[in-house]
Amino acid sequence: MASGLRQSIRRRGQVQGDAVHEEPLLLSVLEGALPFTRQLCRLLGRGVESFDRIKLSSYGDGTVSQGRVEVVRDMREDPRGRRVVILEDIVDTGRTLAFLRKRLFDRGAASVEIYTLLDKPSRRVVEVPLTSVGFEIPDQFVLGFGLDVAGKYRDLPYIGIFEESVAARELKEG
Ligand code: 5GP
Repeated sequence: MASGLRQSIRRRGQVQGDAVHEEPLLLSVLEGALPFTRQLCRLLGRGVESFDRIKLSSYGDGTVSQGRVEVVRDMREDPRGRRVVILEDIVDTGRTLAFLRKRLFDRGAASVEIYTLLDKPSRRVVEVPLTSVGFEIPDQFVLGFGLDVAGKYRDLPYIGIFEESVAARELKEG
């Protein structure tokens, strides 16, 4: 997946051949997409100079989407006329990315591509076009490699399935 991503991000820039948005603006969705973003940036090396981040919220502290997306911390770059490449950890209902995609176009982005590490297509409520999916997974709540449950488990170096009975005990114990 990794080298495919690198080629895709580079090639698309060249095919567009448009000086205005040839260079992609990588937009990482905090906090979950950070490990994925770091690995990708390492792969891209000096190929990417524009990088930004945005923090959105739809889950609060639970494992069920609240269905309302809010900007917790906005991006700094102006997306106007830019080719924006969103890096996301996981797409579930699709609400978060549909919201972000629309927001970027409303603010004048020339194009928006979505690269997600994980996708749960069976959970989709809002359709959103995905440029690249690392792994499709079934309808299970996952954690690790950036993905948290109430702020925990993000640092796990692997992705696991959330087992409520085990995690509930751990969360209670702090
Ligand atoms: P959506 O708006 O597509 O329903 O949800 C996107 C966001 O929900 C993701 O960025 C992520 O923060 C969170 N999310 C969705 N599914 C999971 C999951 O299985 N595990 C974790 N930890 N977060 C999830």
